[in-house]
Amino acid sequence: MPDSNSRNPRKHSQEEIQDLTSAFRDFNIIIERFQETYQGLQNKIDFLNQIVEKKNAELEAQIQEGDNIKNLLNGILEHIYTGVVVINTTGEIIVFNKAAEEITRYDKEEVLGKNYLKLFGNAQVRNKSPLYTLATGKESFHRRKIMRSKDKKPIDVEFSSTLVKNMKDEIIGVVETFNDISEIRNLQRRVTQVETLAALGEMAANVAHEIRNPLGGIGGFAGLLDRKLAKDDPNRKLIKPIVEGVSRLNVIVSDLLSFTRPQKLNPVKVCLQDTLQEIIDFFQISLGNMDKDVELKKQFPEKEIQVYLDSQLFQQIVINLLKNAYDAIEDTGTIEVRIRQNVPESLSEILDEDEKDELLRMFSYLEIDIIDDGVGIPEEMLPKLFNPFFTTKDDGNGLGLAITRKIINLHKGDINVTSELHKGTTFTISLPLYETYHEL
Ligand code: ADP
Ligand code: MG
Repeated sequence: MPDSNSRNPRKHSQEEIQDLTSAFRDFNIIIERFQETYQGLQNKIDFLNQIVEKKNAELEAQIQEGDNIKNLLNGILEHIYTGVVVINTTGEIIVFNKAAEEITRYDKEEVLGKNYLKLFGNAQVRNKSPLYTLATGKESFHRRKIMRSKDKKPIDVEFSSTLVKNMKDEIIGVVETFNDISEIRNLQRRVTQVETLAALGEMAANVAHEIRNPLGGIGGFAGLLDRKLAKDDPNRKLIKPIVEGVSRLNVIVSDLLSFTRPQKLNPVKVCLQDTLQEIIDFFQISLGNMDKDVELKKQFPEKEIQVYLDSQLFQQIVINLLKNAYDAIEDTGTIEVRIRQNVPESLSEILDEDEKDELLRMFSYLEIDIIDDGVGIPEEMLPKLFNPFFTTKDDGNGLGLAITRKIINLHKGDINVTSELHKGTTFTISLPLYETYHEL
């Protein structure tokens, strides 16, 4: 077989070179075009990159704004006092705010993703659950129901439930808002209790009034008898307890009457420090006859404080409180009387100078503390302290604090107590300042 190389090698390579050259030319042209296209593409890419960068920046700004709004809404959700639960269309809890945690005692982690009915459902409130709203589309507004807390305790709540829809108007769940109203219910109960007490008080006042005359008679006749009997008559010793009994009954009767009768104030403008000093001096003298070792202290501000008071009634209430403090001390102890002028701190920061004086005066009030280091008061007793006839003393009538509170309320003030067992008790009277009183 003839070898291909055996043909004319020269001619062969010349042709080949020509072919190669034209191929190179073509190739170069293609390369050039390719480079042009590449450059064009590169330009396009650069342009697209710019657009992408711009879009990215816009998107980032949007996300940032979205985040801000989300944070704001979350902040609001977490700080409002209303419980908020949101369920999705399958009844799973997807939002549970802090107030909801506090009211129900569940932690967020324990309820998120759980079915609402499993946690808070029960037969009585079936048609008051958000699932009912989901199923029927019936929304609720300001209705009441009993929810169960984590420890299965009933909680009185007022609730509303509303459908949640997306932009396309499709239902995506239900939001239920609720407030614990047990406090309000307790207050309502207390109002009823106070009304009953007031009715009882009125009855007691009538009884006291009826007792007063015969009591006067008994006292009078006992005195008469005392004078009629001979000095050495053995029956004489029977009279003493009668006279003592009568005088105790008289105190009770006049306390009762002063508690139940509508009091009329006779207020005058006085310097609080001077008024309190007189009362303290008076009490100090009576301490001299008593057998406990009690030190009286005071802490008054230097600047004179003007108040509007019925001095006589004010003296009565401070003596009441001092006497209670004395009774609470076992053998030795201290009673301190403090005057504080309370200026709300937060207010003084936010006000500008012009409004300051005016508003500070409106929101400032006086506080008088009567502090003892006596036996203290058990916590469960605190709510009953101001009820008429509540006493723990053999010789008490339980009217002191009831009268005290009534008189302070007449002065548009208030009285509160804090106490720690075996450490002592502080009664705090708050009163409006003289100028404020006039505006009340
Ligand atoms: P009374 O003094 O006749 O008992 P009050 O109304 O003055 O009636 O007081 C009611 C009760 O409150 C007292 O019996 C006492 O148990 C309690 N109490 C009042 N003040 C104090 C105090 N400073 N420390 C401890 N207990 C007090
Ligand atoms: Mg008393």
